[in-house]
Amino acid sequence: MPLPPNHKPGPLNIGLMGGTFDPIHMGHLVTAEEARQQFLLDYVIFIPAGLPPHKEKKQVTPAEHRYLMTTLAVMSNPSFVVSRVEVDKEEPSYTIDTLRYFSTRCAPGTNLFFITGADAILDILTWKDYADLLRLCTFIAVSRPEYPLNKLGEITGKLSPELRTKIHLLEIPALAISSTFIRKRAALGKTIKYLTPEPVEQYIKKHGLYKK
Ligand code: ATP
Ligand code: MG
Repeated sequence: MPLPPNHKPGPLNIGLMGGTFDPIHMGHLVTAEEARQQFLLDYVIFIPAGLPPHKEKKQVTPAEHRYLMTTLAVMSNPSFVVSRVEVDKEEPSYTIDTLRYFSTRCAPGTNLFFITGADAILDILTWKDYADLLRLCTFIAVSRPEYPLNKLGEITGKLSPELRTKIHLLEIPALAISSTFIRKRAALGKTIKYLTPEPVEQYIKKHGLYKK
């Protein structure tokens, strides 16, 4: 990959953002863009989940649709790219597996950041190998309406001081958009315009996704 135009001399800073992205929406994109700017990220890599471990039982749109919608959504941002690493795996991926995948493939010295919403970070102590995860990357925990981050102190208090420094809070303009909200609206035939980029909206229409 060529160096991005905004790259400062020194090691690359790479943000990773995992999610089901069913579908990707403005909340994800605003979050990633704010993290990019605040943490001087050269790239944000969106990683649509194949079969997410915690959503296995719920119905999730086939990975290829979610991958393509994510690709359409990031098209206009030169710092945003999409990875197929989880989509191409047969078995469910844990974040630690994905982090190990990127950390072994990036140039030595690359700084990895994992961008996550408040709802996800509040469960961090239940994540597989969370201590290794915090050693491999810095977490950017982003505020999200309805998921207050004031409980986070309680949770990080259980971590060693070394690991605690690996979690950073980032306040973003509140966007109470979720994929669930978009799916429900689409199922009811309500407009989803401006909740997700236009190419994604059109993709959803064309393929009749989220219809009852
Ligand atoms: P669903 O309603 O299906 O759970 P979602 O909107 O939560 O979808 P996910 O794909 O589950 O989207 O989330 C991927 C990541 O993006 C998670 O870390 C989540 O916390 C974060 N995220 C999602 N929506 C927002 C938002 N509006 N603001 C900030 N972070 C968000
Ligand atoms: Mg979610």
